[in-house]
Amino acid sequence: MLAGGAGAGIHVEQIRQSFRGLAILAVFGPDRPTLGISELAGELGLTRSTTHRYAATLATLGYLEQDGPTRRYRLGPRVLDLGFSTLGSLELREVAAPHLRRLTDTTGPTSNLAIRDDTDVATVDNIEPMYRLLERLGMRATKTVWPVACPEGSRNFATSQTLEDPEYLAFVRDLENRGFEVTWHGATMESSKRERTLAGLERFHELIGHYPRIHANHAENRENLYWGTERIDQPLLKFLFGRMAHPPGYFVGHRKDSPYWWGDLCERHILYARNLTFGDLNLASINPSMPYHDPARPLVRYWFSSTDAEDASAFADLLHPRRQQALEAQGGFCIVATHIGKGYVRNSLVDPLVEERLAMLARRPGWFPTVGQLLDWLRERREADTLSAGEWRRMQWRWARDLMVRKWKTRRR
Ligand SMILES: [Zn+2]
Repeated sequence: MLAGGAGAGIHVEQIRQSFRGLAILAVFGPDRPTLGISELAGELGLTRSTTHRYAATLATLGYLEQDGPTRRYRLGPRVLDLGFSTLGSLELREVAAPHLRRLTDTTGPTSNLAIRDDTDVATVDNIEPMYRLLERLGMRATKTVWPVACPEGSRNFATSQTLEDPEYLAFVRDLENRGFEVTWHGATMESSKRERTLAGLERFHELIGHYPRIHANHAENRENLYWGTERIDQPLLKFLFGRMAHPPGYFVGHRKDSPYWWGDLCERHILYARNLTFGDLNLASINPSMPYHDPARPLVRYWFSSTDAEDASAFADLLHPRRQQALEAQGGFCIVATHIGKGYVRNSLVDPLVEERLAMLARRPGWFPTVGQLLDWLRERREADTLSAGEWRRMQWRWARDLMVRKWKTRRR
């Protein structure tokens, strides 16, 4: 009994130590080939003496090397022994991420966070610096696009670029080569009848090289599937929401008798679609069963939830250090739905608070993949595709409450 207890204690301690060891190695990157103890300690949020102990151990083992005169550390030759055969072309954080994740699957505390950037008002100018920052931090994200332009004009989204802009197309293609995920926000910024959706999907395939895997309904587009009051089932919420939004029958992408029908195409091409959004950073506490299949909304294979951050300021709020800490402590996961075109970049610079909070998040033990990677991983981990009636009921009320809070906050801004 006693021996078993001590053994388990050593095991946990070993995991904790290897975890910190990997976290230290992950701080080094092409832009930071050498680091001093103070810099390492600052990055990791550890004391100097603890950091020194770990760095010295890693150096003894050959994972770090110390430069004689400056006493700064760089990665040592044994890093290659970790089995990272592709290390040469990848940043260490990316290579270490699955290992860190496996370790924390055992220990608990870690952050898993994916960003979904909807393409509203996005142009190369107003998003590129943010994507460069994400890449520098070893993070990836999912970018939705509109493959075709909107010749009839658009009141709210006319400034957005689409894949018909050569400069934007080149940028988006390059993003995918860099490990970002490119996916679908409908054919274009305003409502599309079936012909345009069909043409848009084919155009996407032709330009990007595959069909999109992920869909998010856009604004008031009539081809949105199961949107408006059809997002939910609670009769009281349906009634209240129906008075605030479009009446039933407005969003008809899932109705075969409508000119906006594309439900069959969605079922064929799209694996994951977004439904309810919330205000909390940790979706594991609200919708632990995501991605889930909902037999009442069958043309979507799997639904996922998101945490809503409309623009840069909402995003910075969401990543408040207190929330980051809670996400990590709970070992949670999050898909943030935002619009990088909205206020993240001014004069070619990323908003300083967004940058500070993202950098803080990147230093935490965690995994910052694309939405598709995160959802694939969640699906692998669980047994059933279904959502319990209780979870769905709680989600709907929580969604309504969070929606009210967000509307109230926006009004006060
Ligand atoms: Zn949108």
